[in-house]
Amino acid sequence: MLDQIRIVLVGTSHTGNIGSVARAMKTMGLSQLWLVSPKELPDGQAYALSAGASEVLANARVVDTLEEAISDCGLIVGASARSRTLSWPMLEPRECGEKAVQEATQKPVALVFGRENNGLTNEELQLCNFHVCIPANPEYSSLNLAMAVQIVAYEVRVAALAAKPVALEADETQYPTSEQMERFFVHLEDTLNDTGFIIKQHPGVVMTKLKRLFTRARPEEAELNILRGILTSVQRKQKQQSQDE
Ligand code: SAH
Repeated sequence: MLDQIRIVLVGTSHTGNIGSVARAMKTMGLSQLWLVSPKELPDGQAYALSAGASEVLANARVVDTLEEAISDCGLIVGASARSRTLSWPMLEPRECGEKAVQEATQKPVALVFGRENNGLTNEELQLCNFHVCIPANPEYSSLNLAMAVQIVAYEVRVAALAAKPVALEADETQYPTSEQMERFFVHLEDTLNDTGFIIKQHPGVVMTKLKRLFTRARPEEAELNILRGILTSVQRKQKQQSQDE
């Protein structure tokens, strides 16, 4: 089940940190590391700091965008020291561990960490269903990247050790993957274009706001299917009307 939980590092500058993250992960039983456009690929420094966790580094997947790293995930949690600037569903590290372990039985889970110098962008944070904030000293709340990963990974491990197989089976809620959400957003945008609610040349902020709304609300797979069905019915009607005219 821990293989279903991935650590995603976005835009890391120091390869040493990538190595330390690999080590932090392995101590907690995590092995799936994804690197989103790191400044540099893991080098000697990274391998030196990974100590005995070099296979985590060697198996790391490198991709260009956060969207690629999370496309098959049903739960995406972004770690931020300053999440409160953006109002978003928040998890304590403990709750984050429990949720990740519970939902890893359904679909892959992504725990996303930002750049050393300026964290995750608002756009990246908005791709996440929840944010996790480690309640550090409010006057000095930004942890080193690998240390933040260590704390969150520890909570995942604690939750995994405590998890009872029966409790895991009890939650059968299926959430869509990030890719399914993306397809829904395309469908929504197409439909709103067809109805004239948004104008292609001037899309404005409507789609951004709608994406935020649906990412926060986190519809279940079945609910998303209903929404898709509604969009299809609107498009069908629209087509019929334009044929009649
Ligand atoms: N200076 C950056 C912090 C970068 S630390 C900023 O202002 O955002 C690198 C990454 O470690 C962050 O993007 C975040 O993912 C994680 N991190 C650091 N401190 C954290 C905290 N207190 N809670 C949650 N994540 C934290």
